[in-house]
Amino acid sequence: MNPDAAPSSSPSACLLKVEGIHKRFGNNEVLKGVSLQANAGDVISLIGSSGSGKSTLLRCINLLEKPNEGRIVLSGEELQLKADRHGELQAVHAAQLQRLRTKLAMVFQHFNLWAHMTVLQNIIEAPVHVLGVPRDEAVATARRYLERVGLRDVEDRYPSHMSGGQQQRVAIARALAVEPAVMLFDEPTSALDPELVGEVLRVMKLLAEEGRTMLVVTHEMGFAREVSNHLIFLHKGCIEEQGVPAEVLARPKSERLAQFLSGNL
Ligand code: ADP
Ligand code: MG
Repeated sequence: MNPDAAPSSSPSACLLKVEGIHKRFGNNEVLKGVSLQANAGDVISLIGSSGSGKSTLLRCINLLEKPNEGRIVLSGEELQLKADRHGELQAVHAAQLQRLRTKLAMVFQHFNLWAHMTVLQNIIEAPVHVLGVPRDEAVATARRYLERVGLRDVEDRYPSHMSGGQQQRVAIARALAVEPAVMLFDEPTSALDPELVGEVLRVMKLLAEEGRTMLVVTHEMGFAREVSNHLIFLHKGCIEEQGVPAEVLARPKSERLAQFLSGNL
């Protein structure tokens, strides 16, 4: 197998295709033409130094940021991006943006749960108010996913009364509840006390084993090596190296990746 190949050799369907994404903040070009593809069941780890553009890439993919250039195709549907008078690309159709939000679910470093809502309310909010799922059905789904992330008897709790690891697992249950095609994780364990990291990684490993398609920004090299099937090293807004995680991590070809890894190990 060619370790430089993107994970397109799999016969499974392409769920996410990102082509030539550029993003500038003023004169600072943060993404310089990034392309990647996620097929059904792929778990892609995205690594790189702080400031290399990892979060911006995830935020461009779900249009929390607007890419300046590029193409995004999600479950076979190309997102309609159009330049506005400032030269920024914009998603033009509200309905399409809404569909996008339900096909991609994001898990953030700082959980981003709504503090004024209980666990259950957090999870059913999008299914009920965005997707129009009947409340009973959304509650049943929420309970199923809480169970899946290993949480019981927490549905009436408020996030501030839970540990960081529990809050992140609620955030994962919330992401699952919209039945997304692709899940995006932005350093989901970086804000956790070390003793809480394992419980979140175990849940993510379970999701990977279920065949969910995930794009994960992470500093957890063990997770990258053992759980993901493809690894991308981003450096200053460009993909510097990519391939099979165990191979890339053991024998980096790029000097920059070797340096990055030696600082991390
Ligand atoms: P990473 O997640 O890899 O640490 P980021 O994507 O957060 O990197 O940031 C990449 C670069 O983009 C940094 O130089 C950062 O300062 C800049 N940046 C990110 N978001 C913004 C923003 N909203 N406005 C201006 N600059 C930004
Ligand atoms: Mg980041």
